[in-house]
This record gives sequence, structure tokens and C-alpha cells, in this order.
Amino acid sequence: MKKILVTGGLGYIGAHTVVELVNHGYEPVIVDDLSNTSLNVLDGIQAITGQAITFYQNDVRDLNAITKILRDNQIEAVIHFAAFKAVGESVQQPLKYYDNNIGGLVNLLKAMQTTQVKNIVFSSSCTVYGEPDVSPVNESSPIKKANSPYGNTKQIGEEILADCQFLNTVALRYFNPIGAHKSALIGELPLGVPNNLVPYITQTAAGIREKLTVFGQDYNTKDGTCVRDYIHVTDLAIAHVKSLDYIKNHPDNKFEVYNIGTGNGMTVLEILQAFEQVNDLKLNYSIGPRRAGDVEKVWADASKAKNILGWTAQLDLNEMVRSAWAWQQNLPKNAI
Ligand code: UDP
Repeated sequence: MKKILVTGGLGYIGAHTVVELVNHGYEPVIVDDLSNTSLNVLDGIQAITGQAITFYQNDVRDLNAITKILRDNQIEAVIHFAAFKAVGESVQQPLKYYDNNIGGLVNLLKAMQTTQVKNIVFSSSCTVYGEPDVSPVNESSPIKKANSPYGNTKQIGEEILADCQFLNTVALRYFNPIGAHKSALIGELPLGVPNNLVPYITQTAAGIREKLTVFGQDYNTKDGTCVRDYIHVTDLAIAHVKSLDYIKNHPDNKFEVYNIGTGNGMTVLEILQAFEQVNDLKLNYSIGPRRAGDVEKVWADASKAKNILGWTAQLDLNEMVRSAWAWQQNLPKNAI
């Protein structure tokens, strides 16, 4: 099993995963519709790996195109990233999210069934746990009603995959990926005003945004700000490689989910302080009101991934905030 189709392979997590696939002897083929990224990312991947990577500009909802790509490239497994991911936008435009995230998945699975490709790694999210009763959460923790259409697409996506018994599925529930490749040639590049914490921090430090607002300091946590499990995107990328290794060695696997986090909860203020300290700068920020829909605290019990996939996070918070800033500084000013 070598030839891997990576849908959304030019997105933030997808691009880092393509690099790690090459590093570990797999042959990635990318399909991406460029709806939330650009072709510059392909240049970055090719510069890091020193290899030409096959790329198709297609939407995963195009059944004929995806079927042909699977067949022409003799694909043996798929890593499915292609999806919309803005929580707030999904509340405003739910059908856009159900159409792309659910329609795209169903379409991809139809194409896989036709071409008899049964192996898939799926991008899920810790959002399926909602506001957990206790952290760390493990994979048996209750699934809570999703608080956005985006979150619901991840829950439904897992259910669809579990129902498709012809598949060999590993679903990875990501916690909060941050940071960039150590080369600073690929990283997170949100279009427009960032929603996520670390791109907002790096753009504020770069002078693109005037000030960061910390969303609430009245939570029941050690410093009053929310707690998340931040994980280096390269570690997350490697979890996909380990998932493919597992699938290859366990052809009878049907459907399994794994938490992919470090197991450490960090507050917003701890992230800010680490960013300032490691990069030796001061960030302009103030405390503002809570953001609607935010979970107070969640972090992972990632022992299942360790025990079964043989995966653990290797890179620490210092490397996460160092690489995020290096990437921001390496960007052309007109890239935003
Ligand atoms: N956050 C913040 N200011 C921002 C963006 C995010 O204080 O400009 C906080 C947010 O309230 C949450 C944490 O940072 O507690 C992580 O938010 P992010 O959107 O990155 O991830 P998610 O909410 O999906 O865990």
C-alpha cells in the first residue's frame, strides 16, 4: 500500500501530511479544489520534499473526476481532509457545510466503492465531545449534541463511515493543531481575518492585526481563560502516517476512532506567554467577552493512539510557537 489520495492536500493539515507521507515512503496524490488555499502550497511541499507531487484541481463532489483519479493512479488508500471548517460560518450557512462535508464524503465513498478502494483515514475533531463532563476525554467519552453544523458534519461523517462495512476506516479526532513545518515553507494561512487563536497571534505580532482579544477570563480554569490541547501540526501529520501503517497491517479493521492530542491542557494566556517568551516579543492584547459557543476546557487522553497506532506527540509548545512565528515571518506581506 503506497499510493495515497489526499483530498484537501493543499490545506493546512493536508500539506503537512503530504510531506510526512513522502518522508515515510508513501506516494501521495493530491486533489484539492483550491477553495480555501492556493497553488503556492504545492510549491512549498515540493521544495521541502524535493519531489514533484501529482496534483488535481477538483472538487470531491465531482463523482466522475474522483472515480477517474482513483482508477488512473491505482490508489490504495485515501486520507480525506477536504471540508469546510469555520464554525461561525457553518451556523450562518449550514447547507454549504452539509453539501460539501457530507455530500463530499458520500461522493468520495461511492467512488471508492466503485473502484474497490477500501482504506480511509478521516479527519474528525474533538468537537464531537462538546463540553465534556471531565477531561481528559477518551474515545468512550459521550458524544454530545453538536453546537454547530460544522461539528455535526464531523459526527455524521463518523457515523456514515462506521455504517460502511466495506471500508477499513481510521477516524482521527484532532485536538488543536498549531505551528508550522520546521522549514517555514508551509504553515497555516487563513484567508481573511483568522478565527483561530495562533494565526491571530502571529498576525498581531506581525502588525497585520492591531490587537488580539482574549475571549473571556471568567472561566472555571486556573487563570480564567479556556483550556485546549494544542498539538504540533507535524505530529498530527505523522498520526496519519501511523494510521495508514495500521490499516495496512490490519486489513480486517472496520472502524476505529482515535484522539490525537498531547494530553496536556493549556490556557489561552499560557499560549500567549509562551509565544512572547520563545520569540522574545510583546503582544498587544486585551481581555474581552466570551465568544459564543466556546467550550470551557477539553484535552485528550491519547493513550489509545499510543497503544494501538504506536503514535505519541513529540514536539513541545516551544516548537509550536517558534515555528508558527517563523512561518508568519517567512510569508510575503501580500500573502494575506
Ligand atoms: N481565542 C481567543 N482569541 C482569538 C481566537 C481564539 O481568545 O482571537 C481563544 C478561544 O476562545 C479558545 C482558544 O483561543 O478558547 C482556541 O480557539 P480556536 O478558535 O483556535 O480553537 P477552538 O475554539 O476550535 O478550540
